[in-house]
Amino acid sequence: MCKKSNQDTLQQFDCSDFMADCSGSIEGYSSSSPSGDVPMAENNIPMTPCSVSREQSPIVNSPKAQFNSQNTTDYNDQDWMLYALALADKAEAVGEIPVGAVLVKNNEVIAEGWNLSIVEHNACAHAEIIAITNAGKVLKNYRLIDCTLYVTLEPCPMCAGALVHARIKRLVYGAGDYKTGAAGSVFDLVRNEHLNHQIEVTSGIYAEQCANKISDFFRRRRKEKKALKQANKGEKGNV
Ligand SMILES: [Zn+2]
Repeated sequence: MCKKSNQDTLQQFDCSDFMADCSGSIEGYSSSSPSGDVPMAENNIPMTPCSVSREQSPIVNSPKAQFNSQNTTDYNDQDWMLYALALADKAEAVGEIPVGAVLVKNNEVIAEGWNLSIVEHNACAHAEIIAITNAGKVLKNYRLIDCTLYVTLEPCPMCAGALVHARIKRLVYGAGDYKTGAAGSVFDLVRNEHLNHQIEVTSGIYAEQCANKISDFFRRRRKEKKALKQANKGEKGNV
């Protein structure tokens, strides 16, 4: 099992790009068809493995596709973070900032989520919110007792508040977010003694991979935007 990481050495992600890029929809992407291969429920929330067949499951291509079908191993924090990283790819595939979250109870997946704010035109559609929304439906209880949430990026204040409301037992995140992180970096809402519930936190699991995934995404986006600008310039020059 992993150890708690030192906050000072934690890989952190500068979310200034995140804030800038989340403000609008992405060119060339239609909100009516988020993805050809991501199964969506009626309310456009990605369906969990509990509600779709294995063939339809959004995790079928993830490194841990057989998590729930192989009950012989106790998966550790690293395994589950790899799982969350695979879910982050689902976000990236539909043009969203790659953040993934998986909610686990008794070493089994209860629900998944990945960023869908742009697709859904919904500021609240963060990976964590989608995962706990789906988990509530699966467990038929908004209180997600004895559950652990694994997420690739430190939760923002909105998500941290939701995790407290959901009575999550444990939060494990990858990269820290020193601009808006609310699980220790900027605020610490999840361990605030004034609130009626405190969450156990482990941070820094595959922090570098989690941070790089987001940084690479923005680097690619900037390149694409630059190329588009230059192409438009070229077109104008030819007129
Ligand atoms: Zn959030």
